[in-house]
This record gives sequence, C-alpha cells and structure tokens, in this order.
Amino acid sequence: MELKPKILAGNWKMNTDLQEGMKLASTIDKWVNGCTADPHVRIILAVPFTHLAEITGLMDYRRVSVAAQNCAAFEKGAYTGEVSAAMIKSVGAHYCIIGHSERRHVFNEKNEALKAKVDLCLKHAVRPIFCCGETLDERKAGKQNEVIREQLETSFLHIAPEDLKRSIIAYEPVWAIGTGETASPEQAQQMHAFIRKLVAEKYENLNAQEIPILYGGSMKPDNAEDLLKQPDINGGLVGGASLKVESFIDILKAF
Ligand code: PEP
Repeated sequence: MELKPKILAGNWKMNTDLQEGMKLASTIDKWVNGCTADPHVRIILAVPFTHLAEITGLMDYRRVSVAAQNCAAFEKGAYTGEVSAAMIKSVGAHYCIIGHSERRHVFNEKNEALKAKVDLCLKHAVRPIFCCGETLDERKAGKQNEVIREQLETSFLHIAPEDLKRSIIAYEPVWAIGTGETASPEQAQQMHAFIRKLVAEKYENLNAQEIPILYGGSMKPDNAEDLLKQPDINGGLVGGASLKVESFIDILKAF
C-alpha cells in the first residue's frame, strides 16, 4: 500500500458568488467521483465563508472536502466581522487555511495570531492547512530556510503528533503566488525536504512521510506534473487554476 498522501486543494480566494460557487463545486464533485484519475488523491475546496454551508451540503465526502480560507484568532465574542473555528465546524467544513501569504502580507497577520488560529481549529476538530513561504527579498538574501523554520516553529510545530497527522502543510513562496512565476521543481523539492526534516526532528516518533506537504504558487496544468513527481511534494494548493473546472481537473490528472 502506498504511504505517500496525495492532496489537491483549490483556494478560490474572494471569487465567485454563491450560485457560481455552487455550480463550480458540484461540477468538480461530479467529475471527480466519476473519473478515472488517481483515486487516492483527496480534493479540498477552500471556498468563501458565505458558501461554506451550501457547498458542504453538496459534496460527496468520500473524495471532496470543504475548507474555510481563514478563521478568527479568538474563540467567540465582540469581534465584529470575524468567523470562528467553531462556526466553521458547525457548517460541516473539515479544513481551514491558516497563514496564507495574503493574510500575512495584506492583513498583516503575525505568527502569534496564527498560532492561536491553529489551536482553535484543532480544538474544534477543524484540520489546519498551514501555509508558510518566503518573500522574494528573503529568498534573494538566502534566508528562505530560516524564514520557513521560524514560521513553522512559532505557529505550527507545537501541536500534538496526532493533530499533526490530521493537518496539512503548504509551502507557498510569496513571489510565486498569483504572479505566474513558479518555483522550479528543484527549488520546491529542496524546501519540501527541508520542511519534512524539520517535522522529523521535532516529532521523533512520527513518520514524517505521512504528513502532506503541498506546493502552492502558480501551479497550472503545464507545470503540475514536474512539481508533483518530486518525492517530497504531496500535492498542490492551487489558486487561479482552481477557478476553472478544466484546469483544476487537468492538474488532478497530473498526479
Ligand atoms: C494560493 O492562493 O494559494 C495560490 C497558490 O495562488 P496561485 O495558484 O494563483 O498562485
């Protein structure tokens, strides 16, 4: 039996209204359930908050799960406009993206708040998809490993081994997100191997090969195969190309 977990996650960001989102999700769900693509690939759709309840109701959970794209750093209370991990759980979503670079850089979210979000997700049985990634300046300065280590150590790698086994790590170099520029398969593999080594060092009794580490950053049908065949890449977190059924499915076929 193959140990390597395989996951294709789509991050819709702030795109689609409810009707468009329901159509996109059900088309993907039907396609995935009827297709001959690798049956071991788990599909996750990270949809806007407003769509979560409807889309979780539409999906066949054997293959397709639904994720939120963010959650509050607080349990509940006077935080106007925020959505809690408990609320996400209550509508049936299984995952939540935490620390996406747009949250870190546009909304200025810091490692400490991200740690609180991870803990709240786990408390409410929502599985975190924890994102980490360096900026272009950090890479040019050769600091990428240092940055990734800090992001993971301060916000994520404190969790219990059984929680880590239910979670996902996504390596998303900031310079490759939504830019059309992709990390080369070698660059991505190097970082994924580094992350897996960090996991193995911190969790001695856990098989680090079981932890899914996804690559994100302009993954498209024409570069997916080369990225996905790297030994430490377990799948993709896909933004732009997840908004069209054809390109998302073509990436699925590349596993
Ligand atoms: C993302 O939003 O996580 C992402 C990787 O976006 P894109 O694929 O558009 O670069």
